Amino acid sequence: MSDCIFCKIANGEIPVEFVYRDDDVFVIRDINPQGPTHFLVIPTQHIASSAEVTDPSVWSKVVGRAVEVARQMALDKDGYRMVVNTGDQGGQTVPHLHLHLLSGRHFGWPPG
Ligand code: AMP
Ligand code: ZN
Repeated sequence: MSDCIFCKIANGEIPVEFVYRDDDVFVIRDINPQGPTHFLVIPTQHIASSAEVTDPSVWSKVVGRAVEVARQMALDKDGYRMVVNTGDQGGQTVPHLHLHLLSGRHFGWPPG
């Protein structure tokens, strides 16, 4: 999608340092981190939100990669949080599916 920030990152129009990248998924650092560690796990394909996912293998790639990055960075030692904001009330601001992987501090529950 031409005016989508995450598509522009995926196709190189906006240069970033990729934490991980394969054909299906990439991982970047959030520009406005909500904790000491804040990654975004993003499918390369433009899918507007979690509500638009029709192929369940998208989830296995996104969540599976998040777990793998967490393991490689030893985030599983003290724990981490995965978040998928969906739609307006869900707090989604970028309309391209992404999973937040947060770690490095205590995240309360309920989230508020
Ligand atoms: P959400 O509110 O769930 O849609 O999350 C969108 C996230 O994308 C926010 O946490 C932003 O800080 C982050 N973000 C927006 N633009 C960029 C960018 N160019 N690079 C990295 N993260 C970004
Ligand atoms: Zn997009």
